[in-house]
Amino acid sequence: MALWIHADITAQGASCPGCTCWSVRVHSRYQRRLSDAAVGGTETLICLRVRRFYCDNPDCARATFAEQVPGLTTAHARRTPLLRSMLERIALAVGGRPGPAVDPPLVGDGIQDGSAAVDPGTADARTRPGDRARRR
Ligand SMILES: [Zn+2]
Repeated sequence: MALWIHADITAQGASCPGCTCWSVRVHSRYQRRLSDAAVGGTETLICLRVRRFYCDNPDCARATFAEQVPGLTTAHARRTPLLRSMLERIALAVGGRPGPAVDPPLVGDGIQDGSAAVDPGTADARTRPGDRARRR
């Protein structure tokens, strides 16, 4: 189960990351799916409709660019900066081991990429065969 948040960006335009020129000329729209920090222990997914703008500056190397929401999106990222920083802190705290010591409500139990195995009840099942023997 996941909490889905569907959102649109309401800004009139965006600044080109290459030259900082403001643009309101929309090239296209698309959906981005971002994982965010858990809410009430439930995985949170943000379905964000973003726009790609033309950069009209003839001196800029970018023809188009995607708008970003400060504090929420970064180019090509599938996680919010908040979730990314939480996962980085967890990874540093557990030293690369599966996360049975991590409190489940921090990131939810829907993270499937193995970077944060957070459910203490299933953490052993997620480790590879032999990991348990090597730790002993
Ligand atoms: Zn530009």
